[in-house]
Amino acid sequence: MSTNIEAAAVASISKATRAFLAAPRKMLIGGEWVDAISGKMLSTFDPSNGDAITSVPAAAAADIDVAVQAARRAFDSDEWRNLRPVDRELLLLRLADEVEAHGDEFAELECLDNGKSLVLARRVDIKNTVEFLRYIAGWATKIEGSTIDVSLPRARDGEYFAYTRKEPIGVVGAIIPWNFPLMMAAWKIGPALATGCTVVLKPAEETPLTALRLGELLEKVGYPKGVVNIVTGTGIDAGAPLAAHPGIDKIAFTGSTEVGKLVGRAAMDNMTRTSLELGGKSPVIVLEDANPRAVIGGAASAIFFNQGQACTAGSRLYVHKKLFDQVIGGIAEKAAKMKLGSGLDPATQIAPLISERQRDRVWSYIEAGKAQGAQAVAGAARPDNSGYFVEPTVFVDADQKMRIVQEEIFGPVLVAIPFEDLNEVTEMANDSPYGLGASIWSHDLNKIHRLIPKIKAGTVWVNCHNMIDPALPFGGFKHSGIGREMGRAVIDMYTETKSVCMAI
Ligand code: NAD
Repeated sequence: MSTNIEAAAVASISKATRAFLAAPRKMLIGGEWVDAISGKMLSTFDPSNGDAITSVPAAAAADIDVAVQAARRAFDSDEWRNLRPVDRELLLLRLADEVEAHGDEFAELECLDNGKSLVLARRVDIKNTVEFLRYIAGWATKIEGSTIDVSLPRARDGEYFAYTRKEPIGVVGAIIPWNFPLMMAAWKIGPALATGCTVVLKPAEETPLTALRLGELLEKVGYPKGVVNIVTGTGIDAGAPLAAHPGIDKIAFTGSTEVGKLVGRAAMDNMTRTSLELGGKSPVIVLEDANPRAVIGGAASAIFFNQGQACTAGSRLYVHKKLFDQVIGGIAEKAAKMKLGSGLDPATQIAPLISERQRDRVWSYIEAGKAQGAQAVAGAARPDNSGYFVEPTVFVDADQKMRIVQEEIFGPVLVAIPFEDLNEVTEMANDSPYGLGASIWSHDLNKIHRLIPKIKAGTVWVNCHNMIDPALPFGGFKHSGIGREMGRAVIDMYTETKSVCMAI
């Protein structure tokens, strides 16, 4: 990796992004840009070289309290309540237009803050954010209850008229991870605003910048003060008090299963509604009739996309033994040729991981794989540079009990295991605490249809992987979470159902 390329690429950052990063940032509470009450700040780092980019307020419980109160006032205000569904739709459409207009700036911020490729940030993060906001805007005008014929005993000449109403759940606390920061912010804020809720959003401490920039655009398009509050800080100091705050009505969390369980427990004490989008260890299942060339490209992208830092990363590869050598050889060859580098370099295929801690964590799994007897056929060597890089790595000679097969690594590390029959691969695919995604590669419809109902995962892809659409419900079985985002399903997660029964 050449440091000259990095210097040239850094020089290409736009004036707008430079201006945004020129001074320490403030957070958005009650329509004001403020520091933390303690005055403390947190630095955010460029993962390609470890340099500090800028700093943001380090919020704690007192700041969360003020933000929740601001969100409550906004929720109860006539200004917000009296907006018609069509007004909420229009605001979200305007927000989508603004994000699109500032797409390059958002992509640069995401690239600098998260380390990801600028090309990927534009094509995936920003594009999905804009499309998701437009999709969810449409739901604001399509929220419906139903009329229900009840069988209650009738008083003489009497009848009953019964129906349901969908009402906004209230103040939403949203806690998001660092892997797709802007997208994750949109996935929480979008449905909250479409349904008429108000929000306190806490971005990950590693990647607060695009959420803060989004805050400026939320103001610009005309959201009333306090409808969206963006509070920056660590998980322990800011996330935990938000999850445990009795003043929120719902917590929407995306992150690790370990923290998701803490958040769920804290929420339960206040009977706070919860949706949890958690970790994964998604199997990629290649049947014997699959097209090996399509599988090699598809499986490599399923794991190496975003440096393996995707909750649905295809990290376990089960290949029919007839195709095993050919498919693994092809993926290993691809992995060995992938170019590591700064996300600002358009030629980069593997950008740095988010942090030193994450790099060391992924590295410890590579060591564990070797120690438990798996063989690396690609990668597994430490790159010689200052950023948080991990080479794309492919393990074979693994068994189900190994840590690299059972635990979420969240890095560019693939483990491949051969199989002979459908029952065996079904058992191995389901032998995991997680159940977020899975893909099947085949054109044998009989086998595909027999397999789909048996796979314990929230999404099953066929001949593709990591395809996430705003209209398609997304979420996990088992320890991968509770609830569904996207589609009609997400509206249920941000509304309460009120039943009305009138004697008439
Ligand atoms: P993480 O759980 O460490 O952190 C996620 C968020 O929770 C951050 O904002 C963090 O500050 C906050 N947090 C940390 N400790 C907290 C606490 N005690 N109380 C409240 N909040 C706390 O996860 P991460 O490392 O940022 O992200 C990676 C994880 O996210 C992976 O497990 C990945 O699979 C998962 N993820 C899941 C999805 C999905 O949709 N299912 C999407 C993206 C990422």
